[in-house]
Amino acid sequence: MALDRKPVPNDLSAFWMPFTANRQFKKAPRMLVGASGMFYHTADGREVLDGTAGLWCCNAGHCRPRITQAIQEQAAELDYAPAFQMGHPKAFELASALRDMAPEGMEHVFFTNSGSESVETALKIAIAYHRARGEGARTRLIGRERGYHGVNFGGISVGGIVNNRKMFGTLLGGVDHLPHTHLPDQNAFTRGQPEHGAHLADDLERIVALHGAETIAAVIVEPMAGSTGVLMPPKGYLERLREICTKHGILLIFDEVITGFGRLGSAFAADHFDVMPDMMTVAKGLTNGVIPMGAVLTTPAIHDAFMQGPEHVIELFHGYTYSGNPIAAAAGLATLETYREEGLFENAASLASYWEDALHSLKDQPHVIDIRNMGLVGAIELEPIAGDPTRRAFGAFLAAYEKNLMIRTTGDIIALSPPLIIGKAEIDRIVETLSEVLRTLD
Ligand code: PMP
Repeated sequence: MALDRKPVPNDLSAFWMPFTANRQFKKAPRMLVGASGMFYHTADGREVLDGTAGLWCCNAGHCRPRITQAIQEQAAELDYAPAFQMGHPKAFELASALRDMAPEGMEHVFFTNSGSESVETALKIAIAYHRARGEGARTRLIGRERGYHGVNFGGISVGGIVNNRKMFGTLLGGVDHLPHTHLPDQNAFTRGQPEHGAHLADDLERIVALHGAETIAAVIVEPMAGSTGVLMPPKGYLERLREICTKHGILLIFDEVITGFGRLGSAFAADHFDVMPDMMTVAKGLTNGVIPMGAVLTTPAIHDAFMQGPEHVIELFHGYTYSGNPIAAAAGLATLETYREEGLFENAASLASYWEDALHSLKDQPHVIDIRNMGLVGAIELEPIAGDPTRRAFGAFLAAYEKNLMIRTTGDIIALSPPLIIGKAEIDRIVETLSEVLRTLD
């Protein structure tokens, strides 16, 4: 459908854009000026199908009236209130709603403003928890290669992405990494969870032997690695990790910033894989991406360890000006109600096998070396151009955008995570467009 063209700003120089090739972008900017449901509207008057739910966050689709209205009403009633030694109802209501949606055992909610802040918060809580119990030597943090945990210093330290680390000095000390679980030789084109790789969790035993369990606070992993290419956990892997952590008194943190809120067809990946962490980090889909907000969920065992001293003393010296911000909390409540009332997680689950077949129908297209999927998330990995990695997939991104489809790429991987309101016709359109795009790439 042709839409009205919209003006774009003349001056693009001031905004230093994040994770963007600024100079290239500003020569040919791609401007989004509106959105509705499954679609973005571009300044040049096109409707673009959102194959990525924004940045994995707009799980209920765009500009949902209920969320918009909740924000407007809250902004008019109570725009801001601190949560330091003060309260306001919406933050408490959202914490309860989130606890009720979360896997059993995740009972306490600490609010942040983003996934990165949720990660920092969880890492700090882990260290402080051990200290509160008299195990102050447990300060080491274990991440995983190809893990993405946001961009703050803790997150890039436990994260395993070279480009996110190498510009920024020595990072946090006392961090070690598990190997990633991507085994393309054995697992390529697996539908759902790969068969091979559970043994890679045993590397945690090596790390424990090297440093001593008494020095390790926590292991943090994405149950499904998202930003580094949609890597599913091999069958049995998360279970092994859980077992080893429990055996050694190490906390297990699931970073569910992407997997939370229905992406895999269950509310959270912990439910989906039936493996319970000690803490979960969330953001993105918590407010449908509309207002920045994140949260850390913990078990009572962790929370209660802080609730021991004199009652008038602040238990955790941590928090943000906007923790539990009323407008964000109102957006969160409206979002969770939308997920529940529209059965969006169930929609994701019921479309999962259609999505799987649709994606895997691209198996024989040029350059495709792997396809991965689960719930309503997927990845198509392309053979990199020798000496110029990322160019082929970025070419696919540009070509898809020209054909009115928004995809996301990471390295030479196309990542797909459409809003959970999607239907079969839109899945077909994504796959048809991609099939045309793949045939045009050099
Ligand atoms: N953790 C994971 C698993 C993520 O995918 C992301 C963002 N893609 C983050 C943390 C960081 O979230 P934010 O960009 O909101 O800081």
